[in-house]
Amino acid sequence: MTRKTEGRVAGKIALVTGAGSGIGAAIAENLAAHGATVIVTDRSQEAAEAVAQRIGEGASARQLDVADEAQWQAMSALIERCEARLDILVNNAGILILGDVEDTSLADFRKLQAVMSEGVFLGCKHMMPWLRASGAGSIINISSTAALRGYRGFVGYSAAKGAVRAMTMAMAITAQDRGDPVRVNAIMPGDIETPMQQAYDGRSASRDIPRGILPKCSVGAPEDIAAMALFLASDEARFITAAEFVVDNGEIMRPAFPQ
Ligand code: NAD
Repeated sequence: MTRKTEGRVAGKIALVTGAGSGIGAAIAENLAAHGATVIVTDRSQEAAEAVAQRIGEGASARQLDVADEAQWQAMSALIERCEARLDILVNNAGILILGDVEDTSLADFRKLQAVMSEGVFLGCKHMMPWLRASGAGSIINISSTAALRGYRGFVGYSAAKGAVRAMTMAMAITAQDRGDPVRVNAIMPGDIETPMQQAYDGRSASRDIPRGILPKCSVGAPEDIAAMALFLASDEARFITAAEFVVDNGEIMRPAFPQ
């Protein structure tokens, strides 16, 4: 595949997980629009293909279940056979199963950890050699504001997103101490209008998100997260590692009960 020479991430190769929908799709599209070659992955091959087709040149689709170590190993072998290079890894895949501590089954709790906590661990573990070899690797982990404050019904989800946040810091500092040229950062989205978010907040399905600058709303668009991911993926963020970025239009700083 010919690599683009112009754009904020021109010439870089990116892998985005869970890129068949919502935030992941927006991140993949934005990276490609700014010059990256993107491997669009999702547990659903069909969803990944639809996004890769929409992007067109510069994108390819691969089925990848992030919770399955054998599939990460196969992905590593594929990278070796194709470009033998990876510059950007976006660990975005996620699921939501709502429940409080007493009504969440252990099976559901483990499912959440398997996809989001173990999925991020496996992605970093198996892609790290490629990112190190690129000379300027960037890992972007999608956590959540649910890792920063308590939301009712999010016990298993928050546990997974808290693990993502903590792993990000540990991996970033370890990479730096070892002299590995890999930055590791986390994005904590607030409420973003996607199929996942609509499943628990039916109201926003009918809400129009203002597209102008300074929107007065508490629900953002996937593009709002994609803009931050693009910045962190680019060399503009060369002095940024072990950092976390809340992208929620200030929502988390509001008092729980407006006065
Ligand atoms: P979404 O449901 O629209 O997309 C999630 C994608 O992940 C889907 O395409 C799904 O097929 C894929 N996926 C699920 N399990 C997978 C697996 N095991 N392996 C590979 N792919 C898998 O959801 P979204 O809102 O775009 O969420 C993207 C990320 O952002 C998630 O990590 C989510 O937790 C996080 N997040 C979302 C919000 C929000 O309000 N939408 C807020 C904070 C964080």
